[in-house]
Amino acid sequence: MSEHLFTPGPTPIPQAILDVLARPILHHRSVEAQGVFRRIQPGLQQVFGTSELVLVLSCSGTGAIEAAMCSLGRPGEKALVLNNGKFAQRWVDMLQIFGYEVVDIRVPWGMAAEVQHLHAALESHPNIQQVWMVHSETSTGTFSDIKSLAEVVHQKSDALVCVDSISSLCAHELHMDAWGLDVVVSGSQKGFMLPPGLAMLSLSPRAFAKSEEATIPCYYFDLRKARASAMQDTTPWTPAISLICALETSLEILLAEGMEHLWARHEANASMLRSRATAAGYRLYSSSPSNSVSALYIPESRPTLAKDLLSQYSIRVAGGQDHLKGKIIRVGHLGAYTTADMERISTALEELMP
Ligand SMILES: *Cc1c(COP(=O)(O)O)cnc(C)c1O
Repeated sequence: MSEHLFTPGPTPIPQAILDVLARPILHHRSVEAQGVFRRIQPGLQQVFGTSELVLVLSCSGTGAIEAAMCSLGRPGEKALVLNNGKFAQRWVDMLQIFGYEVVDIRVPWGMAAEVQHLHAALESHPNIQQVWMVHSETSTGTFSDIKSLAEVVHQKSDALVCVDSISSLCAHELHMDAWGLDVVVSGSQKGFMLPPGLAMLSLSPRAFAKSEEATIPCYYFDLRKARASAMQDTTPWTPAISLICALETSLEILLAEGMEHLWARHEANASMLRSRATAAGYRLYSSSPSNSVSALYIPESRPTLAKDLLSQYSIRVAGGQDHLKGKIIRVGHLGAYTTADMERISTALEELMP
């Protein structure tokens, strides 16, 4: 019996995508490859809600964040991070390594980054150039309202709004242009239902303008090079072309469902899991639960919950990270999940509650 993945990345891969991955390799400098690059662009723009170029980098999500950090700034510039979990902490660490002066706004894990966290910080720290926020903090299963946060950033500063949308894109509504988002990053192994290995990111015209003056050293991850190549329907270096071919099919699947339906399905799946689990006696870790992943406290009476899900139901979930290790499980419902899948995980959780 094969394993049922309920992890927030990698997510299950639909058969139509697996079929594309089994095809013979396409040469990345061929006319056919250029055609793939040209055809994926409108679909990516629809998913991101932008009319800007969406760049596809051959790396995981973290690589695209690194690319943005080194392509958009100068050492010594101030960057603010709304730090409410493990991924936000990673962005703090990386900004420091690249020489930014980091304003680290700590928000307790399990809580959303809120507008009030931003107001005071932006007032007491003028000249902030970038504000980083995580749309769905995967370490805690927490959703933050980036639309409202972006509004405050624009009211109070000239900073770029930089969004880690790696686990939220496709699960939560996001409109890059309409919401004034300057940097939006996602990854292939999350809502795109692909294997790991691609990151997608888009920059607003303001962010591109900043990149022209950026001085942090980078070469492979230089977004100016990536953009120049993308305008010619190609990439500066050898891309993960097989994954890019599969991305074309991923976009067809996503857009056949339609963004509104996609968001609604994720909402319905997440609320079904949350209500069934809490009715069975589980407690949610987050006070602002995400539609991509649910973090549930492990009941004291079932400390082996994750192991039991795997051995008795062939269901793989993710555990807690850092101080949450052994305290929570994280159930992914980002990607190609049906009501029947949610029924399966909910029933298993109910049966395992002593
Ligand atoms: C998965 C994830 C990342 C990290 O992405 P990698 O692809 O592992 O580099 C970053 N942020 C969030 C919110 C994620 O869920």
